[in-house]
Amino acid sequence: KSKEKSGTYHHFFRSEMNDRNLENIILENALYKALEKEELVIYYQPQIDSRTKEMIGAEALLRWNHPTEGMISPIHFIPIAEETGLIVPIGKWVLANACKQLKQWHMRGYSNMTVSVNLSGRQFEEDDLISMVKSILVETDIAPEFLHIELTENQIFKNTEVTLEKMRELKRLGVKIALDDFGTGYSSLGYLKNFPIDTLKIDRSFMLDIVKDKDNAAITDTIITLSRNLGLNVIAEGVETEEQLAFLRAKQCSIMQGYYFSKPIEAGELAKKYLNHL
Ligand code: C2E
Ligand code: MG
Ligand code: MG
Ligand code: MG
Repeated sequence: KSKEKSGTYHHFFRSEMNDRNLENIILENALYKALEKEELVIYYQPQIDSRTKEMIGAEALLRWNHPTEGMISPIHFIPIAEETGLIVPIGKWVLANACKQLKQWHMRGYSNMTVSVNLSGRQFEEDDLISMVKSILVETDIAPEFLHIELTENQIFKNTEVTLEKMRELKRLGVKIALDDFGTGYSSLGYLKNFPIDTLKIDRSFMLDIVKDKDNAAITDTIITLSRNLGLNVIAEGVETEEQLAFLRAKQCSIMQGYYFSKPIEAGELAKKYLNHL
């Protein structure tokens, strides 16, 4: 408000909209260069089999190692990458590098490990998405079933028909598909019948106080049962405590992911913690 009284430039940069646009242009420019300057890094978070406590796979989570700002979370730059379309080359880079990393793990004897990669709905608008995925699988020599694609319901509903068709093509390829942040979207349960998916990932907001909060407990319990009855796999996200772990095991949730086991970490660190002799 005080800005409006002083200076004359306020006519040009008055609305929040313009401020935001300017900020976005600066960020967009830096992000564009980040890919060239190799400032993007992939962290991996283990996915744990709740019965054996072994790591069965890892989710690839993007980070921007900015020279002055430090490590920037994807929640701050993915939305801009989606708006500008930069998510297309960035997403391709993530997929290629996650598959390359997975090949390393397979070659070192961890031949059943999977890698989960988050895809933006924006990437499903690209005509060459399927051929891009195919060629990365061929180049890295990864069998399709070891690649798991994560997509949120809300991403699917931005462009339902186009996205659904591409999801079906990915399934035909043999790639697995997980519905991320499940339970937080605006869609009805009926769509689960028609969606070509393999896994539901229970959103981590439902893990909060799961032992005391009857509602969160009921929702989590219901999603686990729903998955079982539909023949889908289920992963609990955001598992932070022993209590949550006990609850989920009692409900027979098969896979877990969260700070209780590990935060997302660099591939080298993950190998040291979880893979012997690497
Ligand atoms: P997501 O796919 O739902 O990933 C899970 C997020 O929860 C990650 O945040 C992870 O660090 C965090 N998390 C995991 N365990 C715990 C826990 O126990 N407690 C808490 N409080 N948080 C936990 P992150 O890495 O900041 O990623 C945020 C979101 O950014 C992701 O949510 C995903 O939607 C998006 N994202 C990340 N990498 C990519 C990417 O390569 N492409 C696209 N399109 N989106 C990405
Ligand atoms: Mg995810
Ligand atoms: Mg999630
Ligand atoms: Mg999320």
